[in-house]
Amino acid sequence: MPDSMTGKTVAITGASRGIGAAAARSFAEAGANVVLMARDREAITALAGEIGPTALAVPCDVTRYWEVEAAVAAAADTFGGLDVLVSNAGVIEPISHIASADPVAWDHLIDINLKGVFHCARAAVPLMLARGGGTIINISSGAAVNALEGWSAYCTSKAGVKMFTACLHKELGDKGIRALGLSPGTVATDMQREIKASGVNPVSQLDWSDHIPPEWPARALVWMCGPEADPWLGDDISLRDPDVRKAVGVGP
Ligand code: NAP
Repeated sequence: MPDSMTGKTVAITGASRGIGAAAARSFAEAGANVVLMARDREAITALAGEIGPTALAVPCDVTRYWEVEAAVAAAADTFGGLDVLVSNAGVIEPISHIASADPVAWDHLIDINLKGVFHCARAAVPLMLARGGGTIINISSGAAVNALEGWSAYCTSKAGVKMFTACLHKELGDKGIRALGLSPGTVATDMQREIKASGVNPVSQLDWSDHIPPEWPARALVWMCGPEADPWLGDDISLRDPDVRKAVGVGP
């Protein structure tokens, strides 16, 4: 997909590692300006340096609306607007049983995985509408529709994200905002390392070779910015679907 994103500006949360960092590289390769948002200043600055002048690193905690608003404004100031938002920042911890879960930790996961997604869309939508539209992709999960032991916070947050994607489409689909979710399957990132270390539920028992590389969802995200993904507007696209993999050009 070389040059398919030329002239577009893409903001990616959780760009310091894993799927978000791979997405930043893929969008940059496709010609986009990329805005890297995460808490790890050093990591996003290093990645922006690697990509070059079409990348901007903006340290940002998605739980703080004012930081998200400032980051999105910096994107518009630097590159003239915002065309695509990838809400990818997310955490898996606390992995714990409901009867013994720490309420503060449970609450914090919801702040990042669910409220963070709202914060980003809330800040991005006015800028996108000012340019006549844009694409918002929220990273979902199979956990949005499957209950898993020890993952009550994570599953609940991702179910909320899936509904939020549907709500975005309902309110803004006819105003030029393309809202979609990506359920990537299991991906070889630090998150899967944390899952394996927990030893809880069948996902932790998967072999490392069962996980797909982060470059696959990264390529899917670029593909989702094109009209081929329009049949999924308002819903999640699953990268486990062989037809989707074929369309994206990844995997068997
Ligand atoms: P990862 O390697 O652990 O990366 C998570 C990213 O989220 C990091 O860049 C982290 O950056 C960022 N983040 C966490 N809290 C944040 C906050 N408060 N504000 C801003 N950024 C924050 O995990 P990953 O596997 O790439 O996960 C990316 C997304 O894919 C998540 O939404 C996850 O739920 C989803 N997903 C992953 C899998 C999988 O198998 N890996 C499967 C399904 C869905 P900082 O720490 O620098 O802030």
